[in-house]
Amino acid sequence: MADIQKIVVIGAGTMGNGIAHVAAQCGYAVTLVDVAQEQLDRALATIRANLERQAKKGAIAEGDISSILARITPATDLAPAAASADIAIEAASENFDVKRSIFETLDNAAPPHCVLASNTSSISITAIAATTTRADRVIGMHFFNPVPVMKLCEIVRGQSTSDETYATTFALAQALGKTPVTVQDYPGFVSNRILMPMINEAIYCLMEGVASAEDIDTVMKLGMNHPMGPLQLADFIGLDVCLAIMEVLHEGLGDDKYRPCPLLRRMVAAGLLGRKTGRGFYSY
Ligand code: NAD
Repeated sequence: MADIQKIVVIGAGTMGNGIAHVAAQCGYAVTLVDVAQEQLDRALATIRANLERQAKKGAIAEGDISSILARITPATDLAPAAASADIAIEAASENFDVKRSIFETLDNAAPPHCVLASNTSSISITAIAATTTRADRVIGMHFFNPVPVMKLCEIVRGQSTSDETYATTFALAQALGKTPVTVQDYPGFVSNRILMPMINEAIYCLMEGVASAEDIDTVMKLGMNHPMGPLQLADFIGLDVCLAIMEVLHEGLGDDKYRPCPLLRRMVAAGLLGRKTGRGFYSY
């Protein structure tokens, strides 16, 4: 099992800033890389604000904030940042071509022992690994939003992921305070394979007039003890993201039980994507 000291996080959006935050808080030296300088600036401001909130709650000491922030180095150039990394955690946009280009750069620039992990929600780890010459060192580390709060990390073993890479990554997830679970590389892993069809079915219930959006969510909150109803959760995730993941399940598993609900397609076509656009199943 490799000793991890330096972590490069690629992508400073929602997930990347959370991963960098947790890694720095746990004592690792982090380089946070993004193609956009304004994303890096925004990520560091978000991390500072979240650390200050943690300090107010007494979860960390006020005096630790500056040393945690000092462990994060922002960068716009991936290759030099990867050159001294023990693990790279890619959390860039959910697009295969973007990930291919990042993994090709990592493969060329990172030292041979470096593990190359992806936080992808729906792209095959095996397909990402095949863009490198070290498929044995490629693995999925699927964190959940918001990363500093959510305990789960799915560790996704691709077709060629080695036992050593797996052991190193599993141990890192634990060192980051997460509870890792091991899943094999099939569409949607476990989380989205179960969650998205449930959301899709809730949308079918709404489309067929079985109940109102509020009542569908109330059934799942009060009857199943879910903290959030499926339609509210879909608005939170983004309806475009839900549709894209359903398409991956439908295509990858080849079963019509995963067909996206026509109402979901219609809402995405209308630009009603949920919280981020101000309207989805609810108005914000
Ligand atoms: P985001 O859009 O908030 O951030 C993506 C960032 O990647 C942006 O800052 C963008 O500038 C940057 N980027 C794009 N191309 C790049 C490149 N070539 N090099 C470096 N940076 C680049 O996206 P997000 O929601 O943080 O998602 C990131 C990844 O995490 C995706 O693969 C997504 O599927 C996965 N994921 C997201 C969630 C979630 O709830 N948002 C949960 C689990 C996993």
